[in-house]
Amino acid sequence: MGLLALGTALDWPDAKKQAQLVRAWGIKQLLEIWGKAKGKERDIMLWGDEVEYLVVTYSKDDPKVLLSLRQADILAALAGDKSLSAEGANVPELQDVTGAGTNKQSPVFHPEFGRFMLEATPGKPWGIDFKELLDVEPDMKLRRCIAKDHMLPNEYPITLTTFPRIGSPGVFTDPYYPVSGPRLRSQFVPDEIANPHIRFPTLAANIRSRRGRKVQVNVPVFRDENTPWPWKDPTVNYDMHQWPEDDDVRNGAAPDNFIHMDAMAFGMGSCCLQITFQAKNITEGRRMYDQLSPLGPILLALTAATPIYKGFLADTDVRWNQISKAVDDRTPEELGEKPLEDDRWRIPKSRYASNSTYISTDPRLRPEYLDPDLVIDEDIKQQLLDGGMDDRLATHFAHLFIRDPIVIFDEDLQELDLSKTDHFENIQSTNWQHMRFKPPPADNSIGWRVEFRPMEIQVTDFENAAFAVFIVLITRVILSYDLNFYIPIVKVDENMETAHARDAVLDKTFHFRRNPFPVRPSRAAASRTPSGSSTPNPASSRPPTPSGPVEDEYRKMSINEIINGTAYARHSANADAHYESDADGDAEEFPGLIPLVESYLDSVNVDVVTRCELATYLDLIRKRASGELWTAAKWIRHFVAQHPGYKRDSEVSEEVTKDLVGAIIAIGEREQKGAGFKHLDVPEIGKLLGSCRSGSSRARLRPEDVDMYVNV
Ligand code: ADP
Ligand code: MG
Ligand code: MG
Ligand code: MG
Ligand code: MG
Ligand code: MG
Repeated sequence: MGLLALGTALDWPDAKKQAQLVRAWGIKQLLEIWGKAKGKERDIMLWGDEVEYLVVTYSKDDPKVLLSLRQADILAALAGDKSLSAEGANVPELQDVTGAGTNKQSPVFHPEFGRFMLEATPGKPWGIDFKELLDVEPDMKLRRCIAKDHMLPNEYPITLTTFPRIGSPGVFTDPYYPVSGPRLRSQFVPDEIANPHIRFPTLAANIRSRRGRKVQVNVPVFRDENTPWPWKDPTVNYDMHQWPEDDDVRNGAAPDNFIHMDAMAFGMGSCCLQITFQAKNITEGRRMYDQLSPLGPILLALTAATPIYKGFLADTDVRWNQISKAVDDRTPEELGEKPLEDDRWRIPKSRYASNSTYISTDPRLRPEYLDPDLVIDEDIKQQLLDGGMDDRLATHFAHLFIRDPIVIFDEDLQELDLSKTDHFENIQSTNWQHMRFKPPPADNSIGWRVEFRPMEIQVTDFENAAFAVFIVLITRVILSYDLNFYIPIVKVDENMETAHARDAVLDKTFHFRRNPFPVRPSRAAASRTPSGSSTPNPASSRPPTPSGPVEDEYRKMSINEIINGTAYARHSANADAHYESDADGDAEEFPGLIPLVESYLDSVNVDVVTRCELATYLDLIRKRASGELWTAAKWIRHFVAQHPGYKRDSEVSEEVTKDLVGAIIAIGEREQKGAGFKHLDVPEIGKLLGSCRSGSSRARLRPEDVDMYVNV
């Protein structure tokens, strides 16, 4: 992200003047890398995860739990620790103990938007070997332990999506800073909440300036027995007169029955779990991008973990839309509130949103699936076409390039440097869609990559590893079976909205493709489908209908059906969702993603131990989908509801927050203690990891244990 490149960041009116230049140079850089990399072949299948943490200060005797703003100090301590490798360097001790196929480099820590956040990735990407899937969870635990080791005794890295009382009245950061600052102009959070690197406050300030007012992050409040109704957010101050933006709330920015937030930190201060894949070539990457896209909303609902904002229970379970609103830089003209005069077009979505394009060259991609209202920059598309890019990919980038660059450094505007991709990345990396298609870097040293971005971070590393591994396995299944999950992109958007509902994972249905199998399955593919199990193969019973009405290709399904298959869903606990019948009145079967993964695992060579371990991950996903295990969102709601300090008025007090975070810290410690670093569990590692060395126990949290968090 070029974080070290210091320079003079332009304020908005000046940045706007350079937007056209940055776009033009960005497109030239894109064409340069396209020319170099479009024919790149045989890159190996690599993948990597990103885990984000909140850093809190907590002690049993202190009534308050706070966000620690020591990100920079913690990163400096990590960077200065000689026993940890610099990014990319080898750690011989780790090499010795991890064995074949495991990660030989120590984890890498990165800054994030919030000054109370950290991101950690494995030291190098994971490979294709199934055994490596078992190293993900120990590596995640190692990362958490190393992070903790470089914090103060009362600081903890926790994997909660949002801090329950960020922006609440009173003190919620350590150290305390008063509101309201010139960059964010928030009445709830100080400017010091953001990473002080000039990029971040500039990002926040320029988004606000471009919009012409503060961002408006309004989340419906959860109405409980004693919640006054209509509900007026009691924390909103209508009497501030420091900045012009203080008028926003007087102009209706804070409607009744919504928790009102007004700054980028409320969205970009959320933690998520992202997975990046390297494809063997661009064609495969484009296919992965498209096929993973419809899975986004399903995985968002399955990982739901965000029921509290600014000290109140929300009526939604996930973070997605709040981040979307927190970085929505659209002007009133672009939003359609005013006639177009200065701006070029109306834009239906925030720059953080579910993705709007399919990009594959797959002949099964029907034009009807594409977004009929897609906004693109026609000039840019033409330049890309003239540069030799095909229509579909040119459309994708011409859509991303409707946005202005937000942070521009004056020093970067001296001359165009085609050995870099900075201007391209400027636009690309501030298009926060739920999938990202990542071209190779300027030096073409690595391949085309696809990033899966919708998932919420989970409380335990067991869960984070399970979801990472599941997405990896699904991706392999998609490629091996040539699966087809296409539905119209507007239906993916609709699913994304649906995923926000409280308990969407159990209570809602989602548009999903009826028949995921290739139109003409080869004999081999047909025999690899789960016909040996009780799950019928729809491909064999349903004639291919490549040109029938698109609406017939998909139907609404519960997540239980999508994940576990109709046969399983019909017999499991929460099977009150509707099951459609076909014209003959036969129940319509869907194989289920987990049965597909299992049939795939049956067909490849996986040793018994690995297979058993993978089964524990699949079991978690299966039980989440069926309702046997709760989402973190449900658990947090339950925790609050049964807390003696909760007054059934939607308010999550400091006392409740403290106990909630305390419980989450306890879960983390229990997981660390119980787990051992399986593969890292030898004496030498003690030298390297200090207190991160665990006991000899190899037990770890199992799916059954995850619902222990119900009873903490
Ligand atoms: P970003 O923040 O831009 O999404 P990061 O640098 O944080 O990207 O890394 C994303 C993930 O991609 C990390 O887990 C990293 O290990 C992984 N990764 C790095 N190189 C590759 C590669 N060639 N193929 C697949 N994944 C990779
Ligand atoms: Mg990033
Ligand atoms: Mg990252
Ligand atoms: Mg990140
Ligand atoms: Mg982030
Ligand atoms: Mg990422």
